[in-house]
Amino acid sequence: MTAVHLVILGRQGSGKGTQAARLVEAYSPIHVSTGDMLRAAVADGTELGRRAGALMDAGDLVGDDLINGIVAERLARSDVAEHGFLLDGYPRTPDQATAMEGFLSEAGTTLDGAVILEVPVDEVTARMLARGRVDDTEEAIRRRLDLYESETAPLLAWFADRGLLEVVDGMGDEDVVFGRLSTVIDARLSLSDAS
Ligand code: AMP
Repeated sequence: MTAVHLVILGRQGSGKGTQAARLVEAYSPIHVSTGDMLRAAVADGTELGRRAGALMDAGDLVGDDLINGIVAERLARSDVAEHGFLLDGYPRTPDQATAMEGFLSEAGTTLDGAVILEVPVDEVTARMLARGRVDDTEEAIRRRLDLYESETAPLLAWFADRGLLEVVDGMGDEDVVFGRLSTVIDARLSLSDAS
């Protein structure tokens, strides 16, 4: 099977976690989630965890050099060469995207595409409120979504400029959304196979 090289994007509450897990099942890429890697480093009390933990608690981004290094190192492992990757939570800024482009090209790989699950703000707010978590006040949700918007908008432009962006409607049944995702991914894979 062709190895996929993908980025998945989506607001909190967009169903990104669910769909990422389904993509891993269907296409078998290595799931590279920077949030998960950083949380594991914090839990293990490593040097990286100590450097990243305070920034994460404050809701700030971890520095580009640090995060680019972690991802470059992970993508250089042999399982990724064999199975491809699904990047989740990275890149977060155009600078990170440019760094990614650099180390992928050094490894002789290119991205097949960046898929964004599009779910309107009103809908993700309703979904998060319905979870009823204590940190999910309407005010806190709005702040996190605003931050996502300001972070992500320039990144979407970066992918779009390179013809890599696929906007996928994330509304509706989980199976239906997965069907839309796999349709655009399969189309991209057949394009890159043909070239
Ligand atoms: P996430 O689970 O993707 O929301 O990530 C949790 C936290 O980890 C973020 O709030 C950031 O502090 C940090 N983080 C994860 N990915 C990145 C990244 N690509 N660049 C900078 N910081 C990141």
